[in-house]
Amino acid sequence: MTHSPDIAPLHDTAPLAGSGVRVAAALHANLTAPALVAHSLRKGEGRLSADGAIIVRTGVHTGRSVGDKFVADEPSTTAEVWWGKVNQKLPAQNFAILKSRVQAYLQGRELFTQDLYAGADPENRIRVRLVTTGAWQALFARNMFIRPPAFELPGFTPDYVILHAPDFEADPAIDGVKSTSAIALSFAEKLIVIAGTQYAGEIKKSIFTVMNWILPPKGVLPMHCSANIGKDEDAALFFGLSGTGKTTLSSDPARRLIGDDEHGWAPTGVFNFEGGCYAKVIDLSQEAEPEIWAASHRFGTVLENVVADPQGRLDLTDQTFTENTRACYPVHFIPNVELSGRGSIPKNVFMLTADAFGVLPPISKLTPSQAMYHFLSGYTARVAGTEKGMGSEPQATFSTCFGAPFLPRHPDVYGKLLEKLIKEHGASCWLVNTGWTGGAYGTGKRMSITHTRALLRAALDGDLANVTYRHDPFFGLAIPESVPGIPPEVLDPRASWSDKASYDKAAADLVRRFEDNFATFSDLVGDDVKAAAIRAAA
Ligand code: ATP
Ligand code: MN
Repeated sequence: MTHSPDIAPLHDTAPLAGSGVRVAAALHANLTAPALVAHSLRKGEGRLSADGAIIVRTGVHTGRSVGDKFVADEPSTTAEVWWGKVNQKLPAQNFAILKSRVQAYLQGRELFTQDLYAGADPENRIRVRLVTTGAWQALFARNMFIRPPAFELPGFTPDYVILHAPDFEADPAIDGVKSTSAIALSFAEKLIVIAGTQYAGEIKKSIFTVMNWILPPKGVLPMHCSANIGKDEDAALFFGLSGTGKTTLSSDPARRLIGDDEHGWAPTGVFNFEGGCYAKVIDLSQEAEPEIWAASHRFGTVLENVVADPQGRLDLTDQTFTENTRACYPVHFIPNVELSGRGSIPKNVFMLTADAFGVLPPISKLTPSQAMYHFLSGYTARVAGTEKGMGSEPQATFSTCFGAPFLPRHPDVYGKLLEKLIKEHGASCWLVNTGWTGGAYGTGKRMSITHTRALLRAALDGDLANVTYRHDPFFGLAIPESVPGIPPEVLDPRASWSDKASYDKAAADLVRRFEDNFATFSDLVGDDVKAAAIRAAA
């Protein structure tokens, strides 16, 4: 029998092993980017930009469906899951029903499978198999995760399988879920079902959730952070919620990019979970972010919900479909990259926040106890969100460990691990406000990327080791009095406001929000962190 090398013969169902799907009308296993782009265009899923990137629309879901994520309630794992709003319980029998209905839906269709790794550290890696009806989502996964070398593909047995049926509509009455969309994880079966949403970020963040599940018992801290590494092999981490600058600031011509979003901190060093980046591209500036701009204008990249003219020329300012427009590309599309995906024990840890209230200083040095306080708080203030259902008004968000939506275990588990690692290795910790200065959102303006980069550089190069610090009266944060090349009024948020009384009020309000939020953690932390709460060094 002859067949195209791109299309597996119908009886070769090995690429479906572990999925419960037994037959496909056509089965495209482990296709590379050009073939996936070709299938995508043939199926009418998207079109090419003038530069050859594939542009797709994700339909009604242009961000994660936060209310539709479930964890199967299973006897072997139930005691360890942090049940609640983030990890909603799906009774095991409902998970079984949803799974079998999605398997039945996938039977006999044209399917794309991808065998990929999550985790650049072989000791802390999982083998992931995606089975999907979407050619572009297969490309998304291929770009985002780690592509195994060809010789590791034969005999690939997945640790986790993702059943991905974006056009399948879940039924709350049958499946026990809340809408036609469902993202359901079973840690016992090592199976993920994603149905009723085209938004590919669900694939990425489901696997992140799995890494957050499996690594803590191995003594490895999973983290929602970007990472890069300098000439002296000094690694830096950048924690932060969506839109705070993890992707933007980790792409730095002077430092090799390890990864832009998810890493593990093992006794041997840090490692990327992924093999690609997922950059926000709204209002992307070629001048301020040249690497990400170039990666967004080339073949192989997936552009979600980006608007283009009939010639395929991108308009990155157009928010018609969403403000959360994204480019997804393999990490090697960034020129200065650490291809191993691994780095040393971090020397500097930055906690990024986009404070739309304009209160927090652009950079401050944290004591280890303050670092714990801010890690558990996980503060940012958003002006517009990547999740469905957010308005355009600024809104304070506290998301513990800078990643509550992805934590299947209690935050205490991650907090304790970070505390131990920081104490053991003595990393320098910094709080960086990439948000507003000179007033709150509406009055002030967003911190310039150039200033933020200069402040990070000063911290990374050790220039902040020998400057004098003063302590802000509201949060007890140590603010450098001078940074080479930065106008002093930029360093002091209060000085940047014309109306000092308004600043004092806004700062007091923000302190109150922190205190209210931290009440849930005060029983979990030691006296040092309690003391660090707000006025640590005042
Ligand atoms: P996600 O978790 O959703 O991927 P992220 O933390 O990676 O979010 P970025 O994609 O880096 O966030 O988004 C930061 C956005 O803020 C970018 O659009 C960037 O251009 C903009 N921005 C404006 N000013 C700054 C600044 N001073 N520092 C960092 N980013 C800034
Ligand atoms: Mn990012």
